Formats: sequence, structure tokens, C-alpha cells
Amino acid sequence: MSITLPDLPYGRDALEPYISARTLEFHHGKHHQAYVTNLVKLIAGTEMENMALEDIVRKCAGDTSKAGIFNNAAQVWNHTFYWNCMKKNGGGRPSGRLMKKIEDSFGGFDKFVEEMKNAAATQFGSGWAWLVLDGDRVGIEKTSNADNPLAHGRRALLTIDVWEHAYYLDYQNRRPDYIAAFFEKLVNWDYVESLM
Ligand code: MN
Repeated sequence: MSITLPDLPYGRDALEPYISARTLEFHHGKHHQAYVTNLVKLIAGTEMENMALEDIVRKCAGDTSKAGIFNNAAQVWNHTFYWNCMKKNGGGRPSGRLMKKIEDSFGGFDKFVEEMKNAAATQFGSGWAWLVLDGDRVGIEKTSNADNPLAHGRRALLTIDVWEHAYYLDYQNRRPDYIAAFFEKLVNWDYVESLM
């Protein structure tokens, strides 16, 4: 299996005006592509060359001698997951089993959104905020740089990229405005529910 850059699941202008085509041109076409290119170089000729991406992430997690491979592999995985977590005319609320789990775990959907927005806004520097499956419940995590729930044996259900490259062209330093647009206009709850 060779690691390649997956296409975006929508056109580059699909998320406008909340995330511009210009941002996706750089974020997907340059940043995500660079992680793929770096990873392919780093694993060439090693036992990881033909491993699945998820297995590379798990194998290198916590191994400081493989930090370069981990960082690039995790960022390839994180970005593909992030693109899938958004869609044109997204936002709104989930339904069914996921909504029940969110209500049981956080005491209400609005409380969950408030907590995840807060996690995303307060992640210091580059990183990600996540909704994860945690046994019978769902929980919120934030991670630095490339780190992700997969590296810690947990299943990710939703993520928002809070690296500056995700929002700076559209929002400059206003990270909370990007986070609000993500929840109100972009989240693809159908995709998140498909992971349950
Ligand atoms: Mn990114």
C-alpha cells in the first residue's frame, strides 16, 4: 500500500465563505501534500513502506527515535479525517445514537459544543481538538502538534484543526470565529455518525 494524498471530499470552494478556496489550496494542496511527501521519503526502503497509515501511526507513537515518521504520518491521517468532518451546508445537530451519547456524556448538545469550542480555543499553539469514543461515553481531548487519539488507543469521532494554517488567511488571529463557523456551518454530522 502506498501513501498518497487523498482528494478533498468536495470542491475547493465548497466551504466558502467560512473556509476559502485559497485556504484549502494551501492547506490541502501544500501542507497536507508536504506531510505525504515527507512520509513517503521517510519510510522508503523500511518495513513501514507497505504498512497501512493507521499502523504506522500506532507503531511510531511514543517512540522518540521515530518522531519524524510519527509527526508526518499522524498529520496525513489527521488532515484526511478533518476534511471528512466538514461539508457544504454542514453544522446543525447529530441525531440518533450519537446525540444520545453526547447528551448523556455532557448534559446536553449545547454544553458539548461549548466545551469543545473551549478546548479548541485554548489549545496553546498548534494542535487539534477531538471528540472521542471513550467506552460507553464520548469525551473531548485536545492534542499538540501532530498527536492524535489513535496514538493513545482511542477512536476519534470528530476533529477541528487549530494550527494557524487552518484559519489564518480567512480569520487572521480570530481563532474563536473560525471555531464558531466550524460548528455552526461546516460540521458533517452524517460522517461522524457513520463512525459510531
Ligand atoms: Mn492543518
